[in-house]
Amino acid sequence: MSFQAPKGTFDWLPPRSERILAVREALAAPLRGAGYGYIETPVFEDTQLFARGVGESTDIVSKEMYTFPDKAGRSLTLRPEGTASVVRAVLQHNLHAGQLPVKMWYSGSQFRYERAQKGRYRHFWQVGAEALGSEDPALDAELILLGARGFASLGLENVTLLLNSLGDKACRPAYRAALQEFLRGLDLDADTRARVEINPLRVLDDKRPEVQAQLTGAPLVVDHLCAACEAYHEEVRSLLAASGVAFDDDPRLVRGLDYYTRTTFEFVHGGLGSQSAVGGGGRYDGLSEMLDGPPLPGVGWALGVDRTFLAMEAEGLLDDHARSRVQVYGVPLGEEARRRMFLIVNELRAAGVSADMAFGGKGLKGAMKGADRSGAGFALILGERDLAAEAVQVKNLTDAEQTEVPLAKVVDVLKGKVQ
Ligand code: AMP
Repeated sequence: MSFQAPKGTFDWLPPRSERILAVREALAAPLRGAGYGYIETPVFEDTQLFARGVGESTDIVSKEMYTFPDKAGRSLTLRPEGTASVVRAVLQHNLHAGQLPVKMWYSGSQFRYERAQKGRYRHFWQVGAEALGSEDPALDAELILLGARGFASLGLENVTLLLNSLGDKACRPAYRAALQEFLRGLDLDADTRARVEINPLRVLDDKRPEVQAQLTGAPLVVDHLCAACEAYHEEVRSLLAASGVAFDDDPRLVRGLDYYTRTTFEFVHGGLGSQSAVGGGGRYDGLSEMLDGPPLPGVGWALGVDRTFLAMEAEGLLDDHARSRVQVYGVPLGEEARRRMFLIVNELRAAGVSADMAFGGKGLKGAMKGADRSGAGFALILGERDLAAEAVQVKNLTDAEQTEVPLAKVVDVLKGKVQ
């Protein structure tokens, strides 16, 4: 058998691959319009960055990282998420010494050794945004609005926003203790009991029915928020409401990463089955310090690009299969015509007209099939007789009308026709 893409990975092929570029662009556009600058960080980082920044107790760090030694024996890890890298870059380049907040967005591949299934891959794409250096509920609300706008701009109607607060250093410890006390009284397997001790909030996120059934009556973080966290959360909610963004309070919403504080949210889609999250994020006020930086509050999100694509498919938004099209397609007949067509196609492209041609010495029939498939509006047919007359046949592929145009004028004529 020939090679296959590794398990949990897939190829984006035309014409769908064109749509995925458009999805990324649409998710990023609202950020560009709100003062977020583009950042690109390496695809691999020092393993410790993620171990500390994402958290040793998370599934990502404990089970899902692609970690390898380089030839000099450094431990590197393919990035499983974007936030730790962005914070690392901000600290490294001292960006937080300037105007705050530092607002950044990114787009790229992420790698997690997950149990692969539809919508859950080992190599996937996110568009993400981070705002660092300000603790302001308006910033949390801004990011949520920009995410919602991205989804809406793609025509998605079935996206729901879930919102919660996880408290902060002042109130979370007492809540954590109360939750642990409750969880210790339940009938749980050994792994889950271990999790109760390390990361009890994550137990709330356990999807197994036998666990969920025991969680009714678990203490909720909303009931344990300190006054400052409660006021902060109220302000985020009220700004969202005033902006006309619908949200559902979800007191059980926790996230897989250790560094979240206060605002936490998820965008879920109704048509995706179990892998329903199309994006998520929240505030991570302690992360910079975990990476040996100064106190630097932050808030951000990551939206799943391929999940968003699946959501669009579920809503029937991909039905008109946009192909990559060219405007003009060259059909050369004979050796000399091929050389000449090559130059004409090159000139057309230089003049801003997209063009392709038949390669491989195809005959008229095969080349015309190529013209049809290309989606071009016009075919240029160049035979030996045309060459002798220094002319080319321009065939309108919509109405099959054909006209002869002097070779010297064909670029101008086509420029006029395709505009
Ligand atoms: P996270 O970084 O885990 O908060 O994920 C943010 C978003 O990325 C999720 O809401 C998903 O849309 C997407 N995502 C996370 N993990 C995967 C994966 N393994 N495959 C595809 N998309 C993912």
